[in-house]
Amino acid sequence: MSVTASSVWKNCLAFIKDNIQPQAFKTWFEPIKPIKLSENALSIQVPSKFFYEWLEEHYVKLLKVALTKELGEKAKLVYIIRMENTYGNREPFTEKIPSANRGGMTPQEMDVPIKSKNPELRNPFVIPGIRNIKIESQLNPNYNFDNFLEGDSNRLARSAGMAVANKPGGTSFNPLLVFGGVGLGKTHLAHAIGVEIKDKYPERTVLYISAEKFTQQYIESVKKNTRNDFIHFYQLIDVLIIDDVQFLSGKSGTQDVFFHIFNHLHQNGKQVILTSDKAPVDMQDIEQRLLSRFKWGLSAELQNPDYETRISILKNKLYRDGVEMPNDIVEYVAKHIKTNIRELEGAIISLIAQSSFNKKEVTLELAQSVVEKFVKNTKREVSIDYIQKVVSDYFEMDVATLQSKTRKRHIVQARQLAMFFAKKFTKASLASIGSQIGKRDHATVLHACKTVDNLAETDKQFRKYIDDLTKKFS
Ligand code: ADP
Ligand code: MG
Repeated sequence: MSVTASSVWKNCLAFIKDNIQPQAFKTWFEPIKPIKLSENALSIQVPSKFFYEWLEEHYVKLLKVALTKELGEKAKLVYIIRMENTYGNREPFTEKIPSANRGGMTPQEMDVPIKSKNPELRNPFVIPGIRNIKIESQLNPNYNFDNFLEGDSNRLARSAGMAVANKPGGTSFNPLLVFGGVGLGKTHLAHAIGVEIKDKYPERTVLYISAEKFTQQYIESVKKNTRNDFIHFYQLIDVLIIDDVQFLSGKSGTQDVFFHIFNHLHQNGKQVILTSDKAPVDMQDIEQRLLSRFKWGLSAELQNPDYETRISILKNKLYRDGVEMPNDIVEYVAKHIKTNIRELEGAIISLIAQSSFNKKEVTLELAQSVVEKFVKNTKREVSIDYIQKVVSDYFEMDVATLQSKTRKRHIVQARQLAMFFAKKFTKASLASIGSQIGKRDHATVLHACKTVDNLAETDKQFRKYIDDLTKKFS
């Protein structure tokens, strides 16, 4: 009669059942599945890492005795933790999913050999550091530091990212919060840091996840009563990267759970990397205690790339794709797409496609029409400088006057209008508007916006200023 994984496990279970409470048996042993037997090693599948830890903590002796009875002194136990690739839809710790549904998930294995040389050891299993567990990091290797070009706009964030990658958890940049507008490279940089860490420290557990997916997982865990597993899973990670944390705004349950996970990781010297489309001061509906944590480390902004950086990003893209394109075309694209690197790339990809499908030279005309499409589709953002210039011209003063400290009424009004339009037509934060319009603080900008709103309703002349200026911006 041949010995199989099932037969070995069945005998182990019989022994275990006789030795523990029925409820404990039901909870901790029934869900285990024997998977395979090779030589002296029995592989069993457990539903979560938390589950594995629990077994290790509470039933390690019992397991050893049972297994040794079946397989002899050289018995080995291999845990397989079913964890899902989080690109799918479910949470990484899967519970009670019928085995038929398990396609697409990757088994995570870890070796837990029973040591036979030291039988007097209280714990006969070598409990592996949790870091031996392989968690799919969800990193995209195409987003790395090599192809994240440096420029003035991203220098601080990029070097902070490098520093963190060199010493995860070991710098004062913890958490590292990278913030900036759409398409400026937050996701790319976040992956690059993770990829670099994986490269330097392959044994560390790195996980990249969007705040949205994190939220979904959390909600699922509450539904399925596995909130503890959820928390445990995240607390085991060495480097946690959460993209677009502004998504957590208004979601107090997820914020709460993240707060606890964050504290645990931080206290244990683990690295947290966050991205957001806003600076912490401008985040709304995020709990104060969480915001204050975000500020513990470093907040680094990704700004709009300057012209030189835009050129080098385009040239690099062309180079990597092995495509040649005349300089004047590249310059034209860089000159006209300023605030979004994704659009910059999109335009050049579109040009490459057109030229290769139609087998014709890319002309400046073609470039113009492509760029126009990109720019039109995305309501081009006016700059704060431009707004100040237009408002100053309208009131026949120069920009320096508009920014000056004077309390003269017509100048104050011009300044307030500039702030109002900057708030209305750009995505800049109150703080950043204030600092660009005469070095004022965010409260001044807020006050300006309210004043303009009030005057718009009560003062006919003022209303006309607003209407005239609005026309100039659209
Ligand atoms: P965000 O997450 O801020 O919206 P992404 O990280 O998705 O922006 O970046 C948008 C695109 O621009 C990506 O294709 C990315 O590779 C590219 N990109 C952004 N910054 C750089 C950079 N400094 N060098 C090269 N490519 C960049
Ligand atoms: Mg992104």
